Amino acid sequence: MIPVLGYQGAKVAVLGLGRSGLATAAALQAGGAEPLLWDDSPEARAKAEAEGFTLTDLSRNAALDGVAALITSPGIPHLYPAPNKINARAMELGIPVDNDIGLFFRSYATPEWDNFEHTPKVVAITGSNGKSTTTALVHHILEQAGRPTQMAGNIGKAVLSIDPPQDGEVIVLELSSYQTDLARALTPDVAVFTNLSPDHLDRHNGLGGYFAAKARLFTQGGPDRAVIGVDEDEGRFLANQLGQGPADDRVIRVSSGQKLEGFGWSVFARKGFLAEWRKGRQMASIDLREVKGLPGAHNHQNACAAYAACRALGLAPKLIEQALHSFAGLPHRSQLVAERAGVRFVNDSKATNADSAAKALQAFPRIRWIAGGMGKEGGIAALAPFLASVTKAYLIGHSARDFALQLGDTPHEICETMARAVARAAEEAEAGDVVLLAPAAASFDQYPNFEKRGEDFTACVAALPS
Ligand code: ADP
Repeated sequence: MIPVLGYQGAKVAVLGLGRSGLATAAALQAGGAEPLLWDDSPEARAKAEAEGFTLTDLSRNAALDGVAALITSPGIPHLYPAPNKINARAMELGIPVDNDIGLFFRSYATPEWDNFEHTPKVVAITGSNGKSTTTALVHHILEQAGRPTQMAGNIGKAVLSIDPPQDGEVIVLELSSYQTDLARALTPDVAVFTNLSPDHLDRHNGLGGYFAAKARLFTQGGPDRAVIGVDEDEGRFLANQLGQGPADDRVIRVSSGQKLEGFGWSVFARKGFLAEWRKGRQMASIDLREVKGLPGAHNHQNACAAYAACRALGLAPKLIEQALHSFAGLPHRSQLVAERAGVRFVNDSKATNADSAAKALQAFPRIRWIAGGMGKEGGIAALAPFLASVTKAYLIGHSARDFALQLGDTPHEICETMARAVARAAEEAEAGDVVLLAPAAASFDQYPNFEKRGEDFTACVAALPS
């Protein structure tokens, strides 16, 4: 745990008692503060009480009197679409609002660091897509390189529950826009921006607010190095604003598709090869086509971002290349779960909408596509340009018939269930085919969540007759 500094003897309100809220309460207590805990949900309150915390109803009139700060969970709106009532009251009283990420950045460095040979570092990763994959990949590469490392934030542990950093350790954080929007301290050593596409617009009052929330990671403290995906205008703008000019190697520009040779430092992937350029010279080239855990151009973007972050930390290209090959991928995101007689079975259950399914469909050449579930608005109409790689679709769930109507000439079969879809696809597949679960739909008609759907796919594959 990271004891929170700066609030000894002070009352600090904690609103939202999920994983990060409870970790925040414990870390405040460890730092000598008095946390006042509340959550609107009776279940969350009961869980906090079961863990030995006492509750304070923060919605009562005078509950925030004398409170030094209000710490909120990512799900609680502080401004848009409208402030939560308790946030609104804090604003009236002039009480600063922060989150666990802000508390972490003000608390993680300790006087003990003076005795360390190598100062611990923090890598923080944000962006619309690929955050988890990039975060897990940086963590994996560091582990393979024998560096002490911990991963936290939006993935794995809450940031205040990690162990205090050791000598030479690297903390790798995945940060969502909700987290970067609110944190009052954001001082990573290396900050990464993967890409930008519209998301969570209600919470940020539009795309401009969403981008501004992410840009805070780069503008609050000023990281030593900024790794920035420049495949959209926003990334290009951010990279240009942070550097002194194209030759400034404080910014590492990253792209999937563009050749970026004229910059101080860049890493890009083209036609399956990653290239690193620094000050007009090529430093490394890696064949990504054989990296099984990171298929597709979108994953090559993640590989470039993770590679760049690790280079910024001083790791050698060869070491990073080796580690890329042993990365298994994250569960439910282009995850290779089995290979049988030359047929690969890939679980991308996280592809819950047409946009993310499009990435998966572009990642493989010959696809037997398992799709369907609770379809989103528009169904799979947006996927028409990507169907050339689909040999046949096997449709499941509530939207199976709607999807069938949108498939046009693409061969398809209504299978209803995962078990039947997997069995039929496996029967018909030939060596070189990929049986891909990328549903382009939510899972709730047949499963509690996308993880359970992915687990069912994996279990059905394992149960196939040999
Ligand atoms: P996040 O943590 O940002 O949600 P993930 O790494 O969990 O990202 O990936 C979520 C889904 O987004 C994956 O299933 C994949 O379809 C898609 N995806 C992953 N990386 C990228 C990327 N760099 N660009 C676009 N889409 C991506």
